[in-house]
Amino acid sequence: MKNLSEASALARLQREKAALQSHIKVNYEPGARDCRVCPTPGVCCTDAHFVNVHITRLEAVAMRETLRRTPRLDDAARRAVYARARLAVERYHLRALTAAGDTYAQTYSCPLFAPGVGCLVHARAKPAPCIQHACYDNWEEMPPVRLQWRAERRVELLNEKTYGAAWAWLPTPLWLTLIDPDGDGAELARLARVWGARRTAPTTTPNNAARRAPDGKGRRRRRSLPVIAAR
Ligand code: SF4
Ligand code: SF4
Repeated sequence: MKNLSEASALARLQREKAALQSHIKVNYEPGARDCRVCPTPGVCCTDAHFVNVHITRLEAVAMRETLRRTPRLDDAARRAVYARARLAVERYHLRALTAAGDTYAQTYSCPLFAPGVGCLVHARAKPAPCIQHACYDNWEEMPPVRLQWRAERRVELLNEKTYGAAWAWLPTPLWLTLIDPDGDGAELARLARVWGARRTAPTTTPNNAARRAPDGKGRRRRRSLPVIAAR
């Protein structure tokens, strides 16, 4: 049921993400490795064998607004982000509708990572799995997956209230191309019609936290979640 304006949903989304970010920072970050002294900074964002973070339509709009407002980027740098997103979609063959129906098998190098700066949407529009992600030496100190699951469930509800059925969990670069402010919006309009016509609600499709391995044994595919660092 659509009963929320996009502006209200964006404000609520930001509050939810900020709360998760503070919770992780206070309770779990002390046990994580320090990214400032990482020998391979940003590899967790750019390793195309590893990253399969999916976001929703509302999160993509939040990213677009963050990129639009950040004083870190001039117009050329902003355009470069969308150009990197298009390149990632082509290079890694990212698709909204796959033959297997499993978009989570698609991995990519994230176009939002800027060397020397880090994540360009860190403060205001970071996806939940990225908020939880860090390298830990001990399993006991890692944040539980239920935190991400709860955050993503709330994100799903906000999307539902804002767009009805016209949204889906998709790889971040793909969403960035769909909401590119210089794009014509035709592909998003086409997909919105497809999604709007499907029988099942979008929230019955898996989010990042709910993905399970194809062996059906319940092991979660958590490429985007915290990892135990190799010693
Ligand atoms: S999360 Fe891990 S791999 Fe990524 S920058 Fe931090 S220490 Fe390095
Ligand atoms: S959104 Fe930010 S934290 Fe997440 S993979 Fe991209 S650059 Fe890294």
